[in-house]
Amino acid sequence: MNLQDKDLKYIWHPCSQMKDYEELLPIVIERGEGVYLYDDKGRRFLDIISSWWCNLLGHTNPVISQRIKEQLNRLEHVIFANFTHCEAIELCERLVQYLPAGLIKFHFNDNGSASVECALKMSFQYQQQIGQMQRRKFMCLSDGYHGETLGALSVGTLDLYAKLYQPLLIETKQIVAPDCYRCLFQKDRQNCSCECFIFAEKTFAEYGETACAMIVEPLLQGSAGMRMYPSLYLRKLRALCNQYGVLLIADEIATGFGRTGKMFAFDYANVSPDIMCLSKGLTGGFLPMSLTITTDRIYHAFYGDYHQHIAFMHSHTYAGNPLGCAAALGVLDVLENENILDLATKRSFYLTKKLNEALGNHQNVGEIRHLGLIHAIELVADRQTKKKFNSSWRIGYQIYKKALELGLLLRPLGDILYFNPPLIITESQIDEAVVKCLQAMDSVLGKSRNYEKR
Ligand SMILES: *Cc1c(COP(=O)(O)O)cnc(C)c1O
Repeated sequence: MNLQDKDLKYIWHPCSQMKDYEELLPIVIERGEGVYLYDDKGRRFLDIISSWWCNLLGHTNPVISQRIKEQLNRLEHVIFANFTHCEAIELCERLVQYLPAGLIKFHFNDNGSASVECALKMSFQYQQQIGQMQRRKFMCLSDGYHGETLGALSVGTLDLYAKLYQPLLIETKQIVAPDCYRCLFQKDRQNCSCECFIFAEKTFAEYGETACAMIVEPLLQGSAGMRMYPSLYLRKLRALCNQYGVLLIADEIATGFGRTGKMFAFDYANVSPDIMCLSKGLTGGFLPMSLTITTDRIYHAFYGDYHQHIAFMHSHTYAGNPLGCAAALGVLDVLENENILDLATKRSFYLTKKLNEALGNHQNVGEIRHLGLIHAIELVADRQTKKKFNSSWRIGYQIYKKALELGLLLRPLGDILYFNPPLIITESQIDEAVVKCLQAMDSVLGKSRNYEKR
């Protein structure tokens, strides 16, 4: 039996209709280097999506690999209750310099969803322990994504992931999210006043006194289709949360570590959240780890004599894993020593230019938007009306399959193609990705007139 058949015999892949694998067999990757992955048949794929947005600095980045190897010889894991280690301490000490002001207490978890669960429980318990017993609800934006465990799904609002499980989920109050491409107020994200913030004000007026926290994906709603909105929205949200005594949770799992052009998306807003969730880029995509970081004020609501029973009883076995911490230290080394953010900014200008030259006038490209190196191409059936393609045509999926044939790993969100490459991508690699993306689009959309007739 070949590897692919064996895979299908045993493995239930994430986020997949396994029947699709009948015609698109799993690709067996043998090794990776920089932006490239190599399979067992000698084919090369340019990983323009950073392998689910986590590979920050290239596959098998030598600095990060070395850090982990050294750590492996010293200590692989230790219980994190009552015990600690230098790697965790150094990581916090170094991260504090980059984090928005006030975020100084670190809770370690082992994946993004777990850090969101932790943030939700932490804010709920905080409100209880400061006597705000009526604050039990969570607020969130529509079309948000915060992970896939039941708590994280509750504050996520994408039907694709959450709808079926509704009966199991905690009740939340949703605020209509900014949707700048299809702005309800016919404004433009460069110079609007966040007219859509009225939806937040209305929801807070109704539920602000009974809400414990509001969670938000700052500036970028990733899974919603790389939707991007102005930082003014975050500033307004910060003020509104202050006004009502609602905690603000920043889910920077996708946006952290330079993805948006600054270290954190909240840096654009010049305000601090009360709690921040980090994962994905944290370890450069090497090992599963996450952080839930908060303020002294919140931390102290849990601090007291044992018999008060106000401790935060939340733990994961692999919390604070030293290998994960070593990987995260490697990431900081590379970011600091190799001038990565400045380089990424230059590359992002280049990518914007290339995509606009290639696709600016394409009849099926509704918008090309970007934030840092993250670029999204929203495909539409009609540019003028912004009408979407019939989703049953699975245009994005077909482009994905074509791109794979061409050696580009491009995994669209519905009909939204996006580039979210490792920050170390070079100009010639950008050229390669843009050419292959165009070829894949042409081969699928060249037939788009036929689609119109169907
Ligand atoms: C990926 C992601 C999560 C979930 O992280 P996992 O490690 O996959 O559980 C949560 N929020 C955002 C914004 C994400 O992009």
